[in-house]
Amino acid sequence: MNKKTLLGMTLAELKGVAKELGMPAFTGGQLAQWIYTRHVRSIDEMTNISKANRERLSEKYEIGCANPIDAQYSKDGTIKYLFPVRTTSADSGALSTKFVETVYIPEDDRATLCVSCEVGCKMNCLFCQTGKQGFEGYLSTADILNQVYSLPERDKLTNIVFMGQGEPMDNLDNVLRSTEILTAEYAYAWSPRRITVSSVGLKDKLKRFLEESECHVAVSLHSPIPEQRAELMPAERSMPVEQLVELLRNYDFAHQRRLSFEYIVFGGVNDSMTHARQIVQLLKGLHCRVNLIRFHPIPHVDLHGASEKQMEVMRDYLTAHGIFTTIRASRGQDIYAACGLLSTSAQVDKDRKEQA
Ligand code: SF4
Repeated sequence: MNKKTLLGMTLAELKGVAKELGMPAFTGGQLAQWIYTRHVRSIDEMTNISKANRERLSEKYEIGCANPIDAQYSKDGTIKYLFPVRTTSADSGALSTKFVETVYIPEDDRATLCVSCEVGCKMNCLFCQTGKQGFEGYLSTADILNQVYSLPERDKLTNIVFMGQGEPMDNLDNVLRSTEILTAEYAYAWSPRRITVSSVGLKDKLKRFLEESECHVAVSLHSPIPEQRAELMPAERSMPVEQLVELLRNYDFAHQRRLSFEYIVFGGVNDSMTHARQIVQLLKGLHCRVNLIRFHPIPHVDLHGASEKQMEVMRDYLTAHGIFTTIRASRGQDIYAACGLLSTSAQVDKDRKEQA
């Protein structure tokens, strides 16, 4: 019998487990504490719960944590972990073990974790290795949180970004539950200002996320021109960029919550002054920032990164027109951990070994 996982359950659900097994309601609170503040690896370590109750719990439940099975170390200090996850097939509902990558990025005064929420991705962005992998399954809340729970550097983390494999809005229930537990007083008690969730912009789901979460939002822009954006990101066809910006205008990003637009700069494609002018036009009046990102070439895709000079010209133009703009430092490129390079496809792994 497949045991249910306690990791990923809210306090109310843990209380429900205690009730179901005939234990006192406060056992739910004890479970939350053992899991989310003590990070135990087995039910048997929960020593303030009686042995008989631990045995009863263990018959049906397990913690659901799993250590990474591999780590790659970049010369810049970035570490890429490979975590096993249990995914459910969309067709048959069958469970199988797959893998996702999680990237730990230490900097001078902060340490950011880039977590995955799906194995592969459905969005098929032209420039992204994860998109090339295709979609292989959703991560459960436990599998999303395990990337934090079982991270060797867990206690050093200052920020979490949902920018790894997968589109967060496509696995919204589990992403929202994860951010709820990360920010709940009974669990990690993180401020939502330390968590950023990215999206290509999936209409109703993004709206729901904006309503139900206080975490920062990072929207993938990549071109202000709809036809070109659709070539780079097929998701443009389901939610055109102008509609996306209109939706964002309904929310307050001037105070606690931050809105950023991610813009990978491709040489000769989206790095012209026309693009810069159109970005200013599109984002006029919106409280936001733009992050310009270097492109890391991937096999079989005819795109290359813009020059440093051109990125600086764009940054200066946008800044001069009132949009706070940064050029993002690229991290972990040598271990394929940088933006757009994550993949757990066997074929990509084979190509990389051949290139090495
Ligand atoms: S860029 Fe993000 S949304 Fe697009 S294919 Fe890659 S992982 Fe998916």
